[in-house]
Amino acid sequence: MSRLEELKGIGPKTISILNRLNIYTKEDLVSYYPFRFDVLEKSNLKDSFDGDKVILDGIVATLPLVFYFHKKMNKMTFSFDTGENLLNVTIFNRAFLKANLKVGTKIIVIGKYDKHHGNIVASEIRFGLLPKEPKIEPIYHVTNGISSAQLSKIILIALSSDWQVEEIIPEYLVGKYKLGDKRSSILEIHHPGNKNTLKRAINYLKYEELFLFMLKMNQLKKNRVWEKGISREISKEEVEKFISQLPFPLTDDQIKCVDEVLADMNSPKVMKRLIQGDVGSGKTIVAIISLYINYLSGYQGAFMAPTEILAEQHYENVQKLFAAYPIRVALLTGKMKKKERDDVLKKLAKKELDIVIGTHSLFSEDVYYDSLGLVITDEQHRFGVNQRTKLKEKGISTDVLYLSATPIPRTYAITLYGDMDVSNIHLKPKGRKEIITEIYKNEEMKTVLAKIHQQIRENHQVYVIATQIEESESDELENVEKLKEKFERALGKVAKIGMLHGKMNSLEKEEVMDAFIKNEIQILISTTVIEVGIDVPNATMIVIFDSYRFGLSQLHQLRGRVGRGDFQSYCLLLSDREEERLKIMTETTDGFKISEEDFRMRGSGDLFGTRQSGDMRFHLADIKNDFPILKHAKEDSQEVLESEEYESGKYSYLREIIEKSISLD
Ligand code: ADP
Ligand code: MG
Repeated sequence: MSRLEELKGIGPKTISILNRLNIYTKEDLVSYYPFRFDVLEKSNLKDSFDGDKVILDGIVATLPLVFYFHKKMNKMTFSFDTGENLLNVTIFNRAFLKANLKVGTKIIVIGKYDKHHGNIVASEIRFGLLPKEPKIEPIYHVTNGISSAQLSKIILIALSSDWQVEEIIPEYLVGKYKLGDKRSSILEIHHPGNKNTLKRAINYLKYEELFLFMLKMNQLKKNRVWEKGISREISKEEVEKFISQLPFPLTDDQIKCVDEVLADMNSPKVMKRLIQGDVGSGKTIVAIISLYINYLSGYQGAFMAPTEILAEQHYENVQKLFAAYPIRVALLTGKMKKKERDDVLKKLAKKELDIVIGTHSLFSEDVYYDSLGLVITDEQHRFGVNQRTKLKEKGISTDVLYLSATPIPRTYAITLYGDMDVSNIHLKPKGRKEIITEIYKNEEMKTVLAKIHQQIRENHQVYVIATQIEESESDELENVEKLKEKFERALGKVAKIGMLHGKMNSLEKEEVMDAFIKNEIQILISTTVIEVGIDVPNATMIVIFDSYRFGLSQLHQLRGRVGRGDFQSYCLLLSDREEERLKIMTETTDGFKISEEDFRMRGSGDLFGTRQSGDMRFHLADIKNDFPILKHAKEDSQEVLESEEYESGKYSYLREIIEKSISLD
């Protein structure tokens, strides 16, 4: 491993920025792969359509004019002569470029083509002209203080110095797929020659990524066989007695899930089961019944949610359903006072508590359980796949249940969750009315407002979703702050209006959410922070602005905030863009179908997109488009794990890599 300090021209400030990207050594730096590539190639305007991204070069034809608005925003316009066309260029928030944009300056303009007005809304302006041959540019994920282009330069400096490369893929597999070699693949991906050579390099690195991933999944699966869990003897009758006094009858799918969980928990094998069920399908109750089974067998249970709001919601639910039982339940969250927290910790360690509900804090280092028998993780996709290792460090082989509302098509699930058993809830509770979904143009706002008003009149509540918090680069998009003003004007007299977004601190967020749950707020204007798990059955309408900006699965998750009770619910999608995609939302409310469709159209990006955490996030691979590679990687890694060479220690480096990766989760 070589230190970043050895690199010429890279100072402590840059190093601290690189550290933020988890780059600490030269080797980290060269294996920080681009996430996409731009081809810098002159567009042919004649063949371009309205709205296309175009790349052009030419000269500045008129002095730029700058307009300032909203304190910090500005807009610059000027004419641009490509030699063939005279175009108007608009760019936001680059007033600082003005001094260098003299008439006659050679520039490259990259942006969106507005064919009708001969206009380009530029996202980028560079100085100089385009190269004769198309140039492929690697684009990197970056953080504040560094641009993709700067990072690219630094990586090239590192590549031209001495750096170590570790060949991970067994030689015979490299030969089998004619993968080439790792060093040249890395060189190529950061400094692409042409499309073919780049493709080959990406192929090597993708295979390596997926091979390692599958190796780990297969190893986890193998570990399970050896693990001895708790075996219990809980009779079905006892569980059924509990079920029979619930406020509603279970659906057939819920019953099937409970049966599967009961069988797992009674068996001496450690349970590792994923319950996949569409939003609103009723996974929570299955979790609560599992907690009851675990309680009956004399163990403590922990129920983990991704947010404090959700943890509190579960806590209230659990308390209600166990009210008639001598089961001791507590909430454990990060914001609790030290005294309260210490009290809970003490009781957990002494087994004066049977069930604890909370966030990540359930597995903080200072938390000790007397006899933990079951851990449930809600919204599993928000966490890493294998937090069980953390538990094992506490010396426990507990049963684990994961709940997930991100349905992924079966073939993918089998591969990705290879080391888990999977139960599905397809049916929704009886009596649920289908959510009515409709698409509107922004100019139909009056109709939309009337519909919202109608819900308020019926004493129901409404969610309103926008993509942005405040006015930003693109003034085409609605934002939470502006919508709040608009709604205050339109409906402020008949409804209390609240606002929720990621820039608020968690206390503020919770206060607003709490007020909404208590119906002290009737209209909640929010970014997608409300997306996960919230259950307010009195909310019957969700209005989503600029809905074309979302993936279908995300829209489906958002829509799942309504239709959670017996009332007819509505989802209004506002979009000024015609999108075939959105129509699917009006045609089906089946999350599995929608995710198939999303998969077909967008690849896995959205499903495991930005909020996917833990080890299912790939740098290069895309599990849909690269599924064939994934399948090979699965078989190959299996073969390696079972080989004599592996047993005899030939691939000890692989063993080390997997073990390290498992322990990092
Ligand atoms: P999710 O699967 O999205 O987590 P929840 O568990 O929050 O869904 O359930 C959604 C709503 O449906 C809750 O208000 C819950 O009480 C209710 N519910 C769950 N199961 C049933 C059922 N079998 N019959 C009627 N209502 C149910
Ligand atoms: Mg839920």
